[in-house]
Amino acid sequence: MTATTLSATASALAGISFHSGKVLVDGEIRGPLSGRTLDHVFPGNGEVVGVVARCEAADVDAAVGAARRALDGGWRDMNVRDRRRLLLDYARLVAAHNEELARLQTLDSGMPIQMSHGFLLGPEMAADFIEYYAGLVDKEIGEVLPVYPGAGFDYTLREPLGVVACITAWNAPVYLFGAKVAPALAVGNTVVVKPSEIGSAATLRLAELALEAGIPKGVINVITGLGPECGEPLVTHAGVDAVSFTGGTATGRHIQRFAADSLKRVVLELGGKSASVVFEDADIAAAGMLSAGMVAYGLSGQGCACATRALVHQSVLEEFNQTVVSTMAFMTPADPFDPATMAGPLISDRQLERVLGYVEKGRAEGATVVSGGERLGGDLAAGFYMQPTLLLTSNQTTPAREEIFGPVLCSIPFSDEEEAIRLANDTPYGLAGVINTRDLKRAHRVAARIRSGTVGINGYSIQATTPFGGIKQSGYGREGSRHAIADYSSLKNVYVDLS
Ligand code: NAD
Repeated sequence: MTATTLSATASALAGISFHSGKVLVDGEIRGPLSGRTLDHVFPGNGEVVGVVARCEAADVDAAVGAARRALDGGWRDMNVRDRRRLLLDYARLVAAHNEELARLQTLDSGMPIQMSHGFLLGPEMAADFIEYYAGLVDKEIGEVLPVYPGAGFDYTLREPLGVVACITAWNAPVYLFGAKVAPALAVGNTVVVKPSEIGSAATLRLAELALEAGIPKGVINVITGLGPECGEPLVTHAGVDAVSFTGGTATGRHIQRFAADSLKRVVLELGGKSASVVFEDADIAAAGMLSAGMVAYGLSGQGCACATRALVHQSVLEEFNQTVVSTMAFMTPADPFDPATMAGPLISDRQLERVLGYVEKGRAEGATVVSGGERLGGDLAAGFYMQPTLLLTSNQTTPAREEIFGPVLCSIPFSDEEEAIRLANDTPYGLAGVINTRDLKRAHRVAARIRSGTVGINGYSIQATTPFGGIKQSGYGREGSRHAIADYSSLKNVYVDLS
């Protein structure tokens, strides 16, 4: 297939210009010192649309050096009014580039353009993070504390950590940039951002807009490359004071180990296998649409917080599954640059094969494939598309236990509230969850017992004002809200003797 069979993609690719194979270090957009690149493959049609810089230790060194100079050269000690104003100008500029950034995000990730534009994962959300944390620049600064029995007082100072490495996943580059960079900058850190090697166009443009907004050179640097060649030297670099990481749980474990020698601060936002619990008194149609949407809409299940297990009371199982199947039928993947498209491709051929392998494994372990389970052909054959899939299974099969990162929903029956809670918590992960019920007492009772960092009742939402993050194998630390400030700062206590 050529791009001409996906007409929206063909015209989008003809009209997009982006920094192919570049890094942004010390205010300069240039090629990597390594001189090496990796192919940037667009998952919508399998074509190479550009290259990504393949940075190594020398590039890491240059970026960390630039961030350190910017930190010591004024950013850390800038008066809060100037820093607040710069961040607000930056937020406005990001929001004004909504269209361009959304297209770059789709180019990087295959995210359907309607979702790339949308508030949840689009440029407006990144702008909202920056605006929200700009508002905290002069508020999250410390507190006055009483001391006794003598005369005196005590205060705390919230201080930046220094240079923060922000390492991000490929699936939502614009959101992840805002969620990490905004709180880091607000408290006076400078950053080296390492987006995924899969696509870096949106991240580079976001960092370039910071320069256009007047944020000094070196405050935000972007380097790209493979985990072992670029990510690892960044994590272990003596000039990096903290690491904020979003990605897979296995990579998160490596990062924690690499950071152990220097004891630098680490925040880990990792994978999930969240449950949506559907009680018999719920609005079953709404619960079914929510579950189907979480795994089939937009990122095709390639989202960390997707509730990929639906725990359904046995008395409503059939009705629930029927709703899921009919909702999934509306969400057949198509050309991600077509504004009408609701679901996109998987990120790579390898990932598609991996997801199909999970369906086969489930079948072999006794799961029933209720719908879907196949790769899509025809016009979509050269891209990486698969049918949204519903499996009827127990909580013990491999697809119900492991993070698949594809459009596969496991429907799992339960018989009472205790069993539902036990199954919801019977997972190594603890990131998100949904409770569907009309019973107010039950909703809050169950919310308190689900072991996860976030939970929704009859819906699910993440935004700049609320804390998002995990427990167990989903990591630790929080993004969003004033609580994230703690992850990017240290608290100094100052005692004043007045006697
Ligand atoms: P990944 O772990 O393969 O890569 C993430 C980042 O880590 C990339 O930039 C990669 O280059 C880098 N990296 C890889 N190996 C490294 C190493 N040894 N040292 C340093 N850096 C290294 O993850 P991915 O495939 O890009 O993203 C998918 C995963 O991300 C899923 O598990 C998903 O659940 C998770 N995720 C979590 C959240 C969250 O907020 N909890 C959000 C989005 C995605």
